[in-house]
Amino acid sequence: MINPFEYVLPTKIRYGAGMLKVLGEELRLLKAKKVMIITDKGLVNAGMIKKAAEIIEAEDIDFIVYDEIEANPKDYNVEACAEKARAESVDTLLAFGGGSPIDAAKATAVLARQGGKVRDYQGKGRIKDDCLPLITIPTTAGTGSEVTFSSVITDTKEKFKFTIKSTAIAAKTAIIDPELTLSVPPLITAATGIDALTHAIEGYTANCTEPIAEAAGLYAVEYIAGNIEEAVKNGRNIAARDKMMIGSLLAGLSFSHADVASVHCMAEALGSMYDAPHGMCNAILLPYVMEYNLPAAGHKYARVARAMGIEEKDDYTAAVKGIEHIRKLSKEIGLPGIRSLNVNTDDFELLAEMSEKNGSNDSNPRKISKDEYVKLFYKAYNDCN
Ligand code: NAD
Repeated sequence: MINPFEYVLPTKIRYGAGMLKVLGEELRLLKAKKVMIITDKGLVNAGMIKKAAEIIEAEDIDFIVYDEIEANPKDYNVEACAEKARAESVDTLLAFGGGSPIDAAKATAVLARQGGKVRDYQGKGRIKDDCLPLITIPTTAGTGSEVTFSSVITDTKEKFKFTIKSTAIAAKTAIIDPELTLSVPPLITAATGIDALTHAIEGYTANCTEPIAEAAGLYAVEYIAGNIEEAVKNGRNIAARDKMMIGSLLAGLSFSHADVASVHCMAEALGSMYDAPHGMCNAILLPYVMEYNLPAAGHKYARVARAMGIEEKDDYTAAVKGIEHIRKLSKEIGLPGIRSLNVNTDDFELLAEMSEKNGSNDSNPRKISKDEYVKLFYKAYNDCN
């Protein structure tokens, strides 16, 4: 039977090369009077927000820039950002950047209006509808956060990445312009691209998935697997960037309506303990979790393999070849193994505990325990020279 489902998409999507130009029109529709651009220092230093700032100026709308957001955004980043938004009487947020500024902006949208600490909002039903309106402009093709209902924040005391989730924090509008990704360096293109591939595969295979999420996930696999190498090697190729961006968007739609699963449970644990890039953590763990899941999700992995161009009639052979293809692909685009994060094997028990505690643990297509997580961390470690 098909899982019963509800499909809500509260975000208007405006997609296309050069689409940044509609920012003024979208701000006018929201009746914005004072905007806060939430971004990071890397993007400011690269001159990336200049164009957005010029568009806002041309509309005669007041704005400030908040560029203190760190990678794997921290609880204190969000709390300071919300404080600033309140002090400056900001009425509209504009997230400009990768998943880190976008997630920070979603959490700021809640805190600026509802107060408290960001961790107070973890768990079902804690976020009220009264949030600051948000426009998202992604500059990486990876997280899909521009259209998802979640925000992933690091609790710096517990070194634990947690998620707050509600359709109330979804963007009013996502302006998705692949031209903004032309400047993403090769390693970040690779890591964010595999992040999107992981969303697509986990969204397609999660226990709670439904046909719309499956369709989006499978189609995303085709776009991403077919273009990631070109986007990494020839970053100025707008055709490849375009397909990565639409792949990332579809993957975001897939997992936000289904869920992610054990790759993310482990990657978020790794990412929070070692402050490591999220996409890189996913790339390290994806083939190991897929191998573990083969008995439960083999038939679906076979379709994933075929979407990546692997032509094998037998499902099991196709699935195994697909996993091998992903492993090789990650290496070819320059993504390192788990030892590059300077992990300590003494941490594997705790990492496994954190993985099991993750809210997406039950969505994995094969039941998985803390002991299995420990084994998977060791497998990734022992395979890595
Ligand atoms: P990021 O936002 O941390 O950015 C990584 C680096 O890329 C930064 O240094 C940034 O300055 C740089 N960068 C971004 N765009 C650039 C551009 N166009 N040109 C040059 N440099 C650019 O990385 P990310 O992978 O996009 O986001 C990761 C975060 O997103 C993690 O915290 C992860 O947990 C979260 N995430 C959230 C969701 C969600 O649905 N909420 C989903 C997946 C991941």
